[in-house]
Amino acid sequence: MQQIYDMIIIGGGPGGIGAAVEAKVLGMKSILMIEKGDNHSQTIRKFYKDNKRVDKNYKGQEIEMAGNIDFRDGTKESTLNYFDSLLDHDEIDTAFKSEVESVTRVDGEFHIVTNKAGYRAKNVIVAIGTMGKPNKPDYNLPISLKDRINFNLDKCSQGEKMLIVGGGNSAVEYAIELSKTNNVTLNYRRDTFSRLNDVNLETIYAYNGQEKLRLRMGVDIVSIENENGLVKVNFTDSYYTIYDRVVYAIGGTTPVDFLKKCGITIDSDGKPEFDENFETKVKGLYLGGDIAVKSGGSIAIALNHAHHIISHILKQKQK
Ligand SMILES: Cc1cc2nc3c(=O)[nH]c(=O)nc-3n(C[C@H](O)[C@H](O)[C@H](O)COP(=O)(O)OP(=O)(O)OC[C@H]3O[C@@H](n4cnc5c(N)ncnc54)[C@H](O)[C@@H]3O)c2cc1C
Repeated sequence: MQQIYDMIIIGGGPGGIGAAVEAKVLGMKSILMIEKGDNHSQTIRKFYKDNKRVDKNYKGQEIEMAGNIDFRDGTKESTLNYFDSLLDHDEIDTAFKSEVESVTRVDGEFHIVTNKAGYRAKNVIVAIGTMGKPNKPDYNLPISLKDRINFNLDKCSQGEKMLIVGGGNSAVEYAIELSKTNNVTLNYRRDTFSRLNDVNLETIYAYNGQEKLRLRMGVDIVSIENENGLVKVNFTDSYYTIYDRVVYAIGGTTPVDFLKKCGITIDSDGKPEFDENFETKVKGLYLGGDIAVKSGGSIAIALNHAHHIISHILKQKQK
């Protein structure tokens, strides 16, 4: 706990990388980015399928890049390579496999404790995203099926009868990709898709028309049961189907307990409170990226948060 960093960033996704790079480019001296995974960008690595198209204007949100990072449309791989090159070029100090457990403000400085070490900093940005805690349905998921009910593609293989649940781009992209080697049904509780990009919308209906996969729209799931080790899914239309695997792609949840532990206040909607500069009620403690948007974050939004926060801190310093 010797050195006092100018800036410690918690989370090595786009928000965290953006903050580290902006801090370096705009002249902060000592910066550390702490990431719990064994490499940066765990959401992109775990939840994006291989070769996934990455849109800058994700879900149709037109974003003008504000800072020093030239982020453009690409793929999962080109985006990860670009972030690698940014971290290398700016020689960002990183601590991987380090999960931050708490942040406390003591005598005007922050003490950050991970599963491995303790650090001190003048300012802290929390950019931990929401996908560390994927959304789960309200009904019970039998523990005995935990290997067959998933929230990302890690355990998926080939030749399985699968149900993908969700109506966003992630669910649709999972269904399209998995249908190439599996028997896939996509279940969305609404009758039509309303949040898809044009390519996904066209492809999902084309695949359905060509019977490469099946759409089950306008019905919800009532319950899930274990049927001889497989997943029995009971739908609201009173039919049931047995699947080898069910994958939920229904977004992520704000990690409220962690934020509270850091002294961050939470509003009545369960969202963290912060001001127009993303500063929480704890002076010097900022939120950026997906945890600082009400809904619908993106890489470009996270990078812009980072630029705004660092510029704000540096302006404060000059006063
Ligand atoms: C399937 C899918 C497809 C998407 N496609 C696109 C797209 O095409 N274009 C686009 O712009 N956006 C897309 N998004 C959204 C985009 O990925 C997010 O908006 C973006 O990753 C948010 O960045 P972030 O830095 O806020 O959080 P994240 O990317 O979630 O990064 C948070 C990081 O913090 C780490 N972390 C969490 N807790 C701790 C802790 N306690 N200590 C240390 N580290 C911690 C995590 O391991 C993670 O690496 C997609 C999202 C998903 C799920």
